[in-house]
Amino acid sequence: MMDCVFCQIVAGKIPSTVLYQDEDVLAFRDINPLAPTHVLIIPKKHIPSLADITDDEAPLMGRMAGVANRLAREAGVSESGYRLVVSSGEDGGQIVPHLHMHLLGGRKLSARLC
Ligand code: AMP
Ligand code: ZN
Repeated sequence: MMDCVFCQIVAGKIPSTVLYQDEDVLAFRDINPLAPTHVLIIPKKHIPSLADITDDEAPLMGRMAGVANRLAREAGVSESGYRLVVSSGEDGGQIVPHLHMHLLGGRKLSARLC
């Protein structure tokens, strides 16, 4: 999937600020932050969207949430609060077709979700 921007980040072909990685999960700073803390958490494997995840792959979402919580603590927003966002497909507002979770925090986010 070398035409996928996030696969290229996983492969180190596009630079990113990596905050965490293990065998299956990578987390890096969003290039266009919408909040003081804005991190993307992705599976290293190319999965196009949440809608494409198989039952076998579903535990990855829990792993990604665990990484998000850890990074929220490290960023100092665990107490003040934060939001995890996963957009899926066109109507969901997903732009990059590689499954990702946004971690947003460090400011008061709107109570409106859309
Ligand atoms: P979404 O709209 O949920 O698909 O979000 C895609 C996110 O990827 C956006 O917040 C972009 O700012 C971010 N993004 C796109 N390209 C890069 C990149 N090269 N490095 C870091 N973040 C990126
Ligand atoms: Zn990809």
